Amino acid sequence: MEFSIVGFPRIGAHRELKFETEKYFRGEIGGAELLDTASRLRAAQWKTQRDAGCAFIPSNDFSLYDGMLDMAFMLNAIPQRFRELHLDDIGTYFAMARGYQGPQGDVKALAMKKWFNTNYHYIVPELDDDTEPRLRSDAFLDGYRQAKAMGIETKPVVVGPFTFLKLAHCTGQKTAADFASAVLAAYTSVLEKCAENGVRWLQMDEPYLVMDLTAEDVEFFCALYEKLLAAKGSVKVLLQTYFGDVRDCYERLCALPFDGIGLDFVEGRQTAALMSAHGFPADKTLFAGLVNGKNIWRCDYAKVLGRLGELKAVCQRTVLSTSCSLLHVPYTVRNEPQLPAEITQHFSFACEKLAELRELCRLSETPNYHFSSAYCTNQALFRSGGLREDPEVRAQVNALTDADFTRQMPRKERQALQRKVLGLPLLPTTTIGSFPQTKEVKQNRAKYRKGEISEAEYRTNAKAFIKNCIKLQEELGLDVLVHGEFERNDMVEFFGENLSGYVFTANAWVQSYGTRGVKPPIVFGDVRRKKSITTDYIRYANSLTGKDVKGMLTGPVTILNWSFPREDITTQEMMYQIGLAIRDEVLELEAAGVRIIQIDEAALREKLPLRRADWHSEYLDFAIKAFRLCHARVKPETQIHTHMCYSEFEDIIPEIDAMDADVITFEASRSKLAILDSLKANHFETEAGPGVYDIHSPRVPNVAEIETALRLMLEKIPRESLWVNPDCGLKTRGEPETVASLTNLVKAAKTVRESLA
Ligand code: GLN
Ligand code: ZN
Repeated sequence: MEFSIVGFPRIGAHRELKFETEKYFRGEIGGAELLDTASRLRAAQWKTQRDAGCAFIPSNDFSLYDGMLDMAFMLNAIPQRFRELHLDDIGTYFAMARGYQGPQGDVKALAMKKWFNTNYHYIVPELDDDTEPRLRSDAFLDGYRQAKAMGIETKPVVVGPFTFLKLAHCTGQKTAADFASAVLAAYTSVLEKCAENGVRWLQMDEPYLVMDLTAEDVEFFCALYEKLLAAKGSVKVLLQTYFGDVRDCYERLCALPFDGIGLDFVEGRQTAALMSAHGFPADKTLFAGLVNGKNIWRCDYAKVLGRLGELKAVCQRTVLSTSCSLLHVPYTVRNEPQLPAEITQHFSFACEKLAELRELCRLSETPNYHFSSAYCTNQALFRSGGLREDPEVRAQVNALTDADFTRQMPRKERQALQRKVLGLPLLPTTTIGSFPQTKEVKQNRAKYRKGEISEAEYRTNAKAFIKNCIKLQEELGLDVLVHGEFERNDMVEFFGENLSGYVFTANAWVQSYGTRGVKPPIVFGDVRRKKSITTDYIRYANSLTGKDVKGMLTGPVTILNWSFPREDITTQEMMYQIGLAIRDEVLELEAAGVRIIQIDEAALREKLPLRRADWHSEYLDFAIKAFRLCHARVKPETQIHTHMCYSEFEDIIPEIDAMDADVITFEASRSKLAILDSLKANHFETEAGPGVYDIHSPRVPNVAEIETALRLMLEKIPRESLWVNPDCGLKTRGEPETVASLTNLVKAAKTVRESLA
């Protein structure tokens, strides 16, 4: 048994690539130096993989910024605005990634989007009517040649033409189909170059195959590959899929002359069933994605070896593989020496997964492997529940009934009651929660973290910021105030630190996009609220003013979506556990006299399954309930707000309404308010505050444009349901622009309000 991996993290064990690239951006090093670092990093990881015994080591899975951007660059999809800058190759490349402002001109970057169901973001290639796809160079083989010179045979990886064309954005009259023949010719050259260089295996990634495909999509895919594979010559082609199963095209895929097919058995829930129903072609190698490439847990050898045994009966030749690229996990557990071994023994990051793959290969060839020590050690991990289980929390989740998810009074009646009790004006003004994180605010947290100030000092300082913030909001004339979130650097980490069951790493970074990384906290065990989290600050803020200050919490779906989840219990169980913890906080806030509580679900849409058929049963049904669990027990007059970052939720509006919040604020200004029509069409009941200006840009909106936005909103949203607020939190903005923007926001709201009276 041999093993393969789909791809490896490229940022380096200590994020070397990030730091070097940022040096290059600041002009501290040149392009040649950056490329030098890149080739050193690549060499190091090939060695790691070779030493681990990997038989199919990927090359060209590396990228200076993003793999899709590399493909666009390689296929000559370089929009005119970048060509006209007349920069060198690397300059043009980064201009496409990040935009360019300098002596050569001023151009905006290509768009960025979420890569399927991951937290990684790719650069969206643009195909303009004048784009002429062709293979610009054989730079995609640089890695292959470099590794070969080290005596390491690799399989180059490229994104395949189908996924490339499906994800590219056609900006003019032409459609993806119009570019197909040129793109195909370019990929034919890819195969030719591979043959010239002696490549044995080429991996073509086609993750788009796991999406819901139409009949035309399937035809398009087959047509592309029928032509392409006719030209493959001596090179073996591995068609690699991941993030799901290929139920819409499995048989067609098997009929094409690929040499290998990579299937995902982890997220692909129908993969095994497809194989047993339709078999697997005898002339092909199955690359069985049995080891989870996305999660950070040790893999359950019993499951993998069991499945491998079954596959041997169906397939002539099987190679063990990861379910997807290891890009989505941190580099190595060895970077976390501060964590106790009883915790880290459960972890497997990229390097540890290599060791697991090797061990699994060996065990698969060991008769009676059940008795081997490697196997027994592994299996022991899956029995030791003690550290991770909280029987009380489990019992609480098991005891949940409908009443725990249902507020006592229907929303319409509640809303009327709240209007009376809260005494808010028409078009109430508010903000999303955070205020600018000034140097002093950040310093306070940093000093506390380093132990330079006591907790008491830290809290006193935080309260001083709150006091200023309340005063500012009163001066601005906002109606519903916030405390400003000066005690948080991150809306998930802050809560995670106060929940038992959470583990934080020191260096477990995962690339989010380009040079940006995230370090998601890990849900290690059952979750419960350790102690009161926000009430002291919120109570204090409320004591400073006659107006209402919103309690400010992060919801269970967002907390979980931005963490590494467990594998030993279900998503629903985890969400309910976190929901119960947040419910404790909600009820405590209410008891402290807080009349408005916001529960942010910024990331609600993020883990929506790729296939529509799975949306409800696999996610929404319990995600929505987890949110309702947080607030179902509050009094009817307590007003519950929620906030979502992206308004790309036209297709789940009834579900958003079913969260049963009283008010929702969301980002709308960048999407040109398109969402409003859908709200109206769906008779949206939740009061709504579509953001009236974009907080991602330092620009100050003027009164007239906010007024215009509000009048437009009033055409679609009943006046008694409309709130006035920015798009999102203000923490990344400067103070002067925030004051100027909010002054204009309040002015515009007043004018429109008066005109309605
Ligand atoms: N309440 C948070 C803030 O204002 C919400 C952040 C977010 O939506 N990402 O910062
Ligand atoms: Zn937001």
